Amino acid sequence: MPIREDLLLKRNNCTRKTLTQQTLKGTVFDIQRFSVHDGPGIRTTIFLKGCTLRCFWCQNPEGIHLKPEVMFYPDRCISCGNCLLSCPNKAHVVKDGAHIFLREKCNACGKCTQTCYAGTLVLVGREMTVDEVMNEVLRDKVFYETSGGGVTLSGGDPIVQHGFSWALLKKCKKVGLHTAIETAANCPWNILARLLPMLDLVMMDIKHIDSEKHRNATGVSNKVILDNAKRLSKTRKPLIIRVPIIPGFNDTKSEVEAIAEFVKEFSNLEYLELLPFHRLGEGKYKALGLEYSASNLAVPTKEKMRELSEAAKKLGIKVREN
Ligand code: SF4
Ligand code: SF4
Repeated sequence: MPIREDLLLKRNNCTRKTLTQQTLKGTVFDIQRFSVHDGPGIRTTIFLKGCTLRCFWCQNPEGIHLKPEVMFYPDRCISCGNCLLSCPNKAHVVKDGAHIFLREKCNACGKCTQTCYAGTLVLVGREMTVDEVMNEVLRDKVFYETSGGGVTLSGGDPIVQHGFSWALLKKCKKVGLHTAIETAANCPWNILARLLPMLDLVMMDIKHIDSEKHRNATGVSNKVILDNAKRLSKTRKPLIIRVPIIPGFNDTKSEVEAIAEFVKEFSNLEYLELLPFHRLGEGKYKALGLEYSASNLAVPTKEKMRELSEAAKKLGIKVREN
């Protein structure tokens, strides 16, 4: 059964009207130039806010929610007091000499972040039009042409803001850019089907074949994801399947083999990519006022990654390990 749109809207705290308006504006939390890990060649990666999954190890927690948020790094505060003066909601207070951020009072208007020169307060999520994003993208057109690169939509998951993603990809194709998407594909098929003509490459995650384990770790069943993977395999669109290797969740040979078995007949599979868990996102959880549930996990060793990669290769598919 495809994911219900009302649940998707609720999960991201937005309305249908918000989604349709996103054909004009999207909420972007980062634009990374000269990226070399998000598809072929030198690329610009556009990170869009909003995700339908809640993976407990998420390495980009600032991309989970659709709405803009403030990240707060108290260690950087120089006590200038600018934020106290600029916040209309009195979300910043000083108590016993310490700067307290009352997140529940914050509506992410961004005023304090503009006056905080120490980088203590950072607004994540900026509304941008397609043309504004394109202005950034086109700065590096010459590098895309010489390297075989282009533009990648990432997040979060670009399918949450699918209207905006479609409009942006369409603009990219109009000027002849190579386009790619990084997605969990946890959405009604018609959303992907609409994006496909605008895409040269799809990079999708498969995190586990067991639906219950998948639900426990990500908050959703994998049924829609696996259905969409099968449907994608019947298109001619180049497809990369990515597996984040998470200790204790999917880091056994049999779990990786099950994924490899599932994708091995996909005629459009470029390769299976195994991505080792890392903890680089940990500080961002604290800055967002979120709990980090993966702090006790160890980063997989090179030997472990090699072992999993070899197990998948034995099933006759091309594997890329990182
Ligand atoms: S983003 Fe706006 S509401 Fe939130 S703390 Fe800063 S000034 Fe106040
Ligand atoms: S504006 Fe920034 S540096 Fe100044 S008191 Fe507020 S958080 Fe601290």
